Amino acid sequence: MPLYAVYLHIPFCTHRCGYCDFNTYAGLEDLIPAYTAALVHEIELVASSAGERLPAQSIFFGGGTPSLLSGAQLASILRALEESFHWLPGIEITLEANPGTLSLASLQEMRSLGVNRLSLGMQSAHPGELRLLERQHDYPQVVRAVSAARQAGFDNLNLDLIYGLPEQALSTWQRSLELALGLHPEHLSLYALTIEHGTPLKRWAKRGLIPEPDPDLAAEMYEWADERLAAVGYEQYEISNWSRPGRACRHNLQYWRGLPYLGLGAGAHGYANGVRTANVLAPAAYITRLENGALQEFPRSPATASLTQVDRTAEIGETMMMGLRLTREGVSEADFQARFGQGLDEVFAAEIEELRGYGLLEWAGEAPWRCLRLTDRGRLLGNQVFVRFI
Ligand code: SF4
Repeated sequence: MPLYAVYLHIPFCTHRCGYCDFNTYAGLEDLIPAYTAALVHEIELVASSAGERLPAQSIFFGGGTPSLLSGAQLASILRALEESFHWLPGIEITLEANPGTLSLASLQEMRSLGVNRLSLGMQSAHPGELRLLERQHDYPQVVRAVSAARQAGFDNLNLDLIYGLPEQALSTWQRSLELALGLHPEHLSLYALTIEHGTPLKRWAKRGLIPEPDPDLAAEMYEWADERLAAVGYEQYEISNWSRPGRACRHNLQYWRGLPYLGLGAGAHGYANGVRTANVLAPAAYITRLENGALQEFPRSPATASLTQVDRTAEIGETMMMGLRLTREGVSEADFQARFGQGLDEVFAAEIEELRGYGLLEWAGEAPWRCLRLTDRGRLLGNQVFVRFI
């Protein structure tokens, strides 16, 4: 039986940041108690619809701002998960948090409930950049949050940072990353800003109030970060993710390896039994559906708003697109053969040859254990490589 990852979406924030296009809402915090009860119900329904106790290797509270949940709310969700799934020893339990929402007491409570990995949205250390992004914290709050997390016993900490901001200079990016390194995180996620449609940032850019980000400068920032992180002992394992040895995020590896995960909560996406699910977006609609909902066929839930059967062609394309994001392990030739009954060279001979010719893909290791992965140059042009396989 495959191991499962469980994602729980907490769609509440105290304020919506100017660049955010996630499924999250400000001003709906009154719904959190009813939402927690609905989430507990969804966990119980989906788990029992599987017909056996599924083994879970990771749990991830994402958002939104999961750190807005009280200790009692978090405890009730974790209790339902523990009663509904078979937790593997050493299960990874991550919670995303905004630095301004944490206290030593809340962190100690999370830790005592079993949360063992904390992911902090630092984004930048520069006050002007944080203002532009409309973040609700400053760098000193990040320092205090990290210090409190260490004191509470967290030894697995991620910091999220964003680069490629409008008017961001290479030097301010370097300063933010150096300050992040000074906090000794076990893991770093570095994302290039994309200005999404429908966000305030997009409107400001359209009106000419801010410039669009400069992609060449963003590439320079990425390359500098890559070299700097390698020099101080971080291993890159995914296009946007680096970790200390052995500290890669197990939950996210599950996505990139094309393994099953359950997505619970408003707007959450899942993939299990060859089916992709997506839940209804609005928290109030989600709560209503769970209040009135009954057992469905696994992995559906009363909140499932759309369902897609993943056929073999789509599964092959997704395996390539997700696997090639893994910069070290790439797509294993042996795993591909075992999963699809054909070799990578048989299915994608022309694509592989062409992309290798452009210096974007390479074989690493010896056949039959070799893997196909992006070259250093390919990592900068990942999207152009991925489209060739889907
Ligand atoms: S804290 Fe995160 S999820 Fe919430 S609005 Fe800001 S970017 Fe979006």
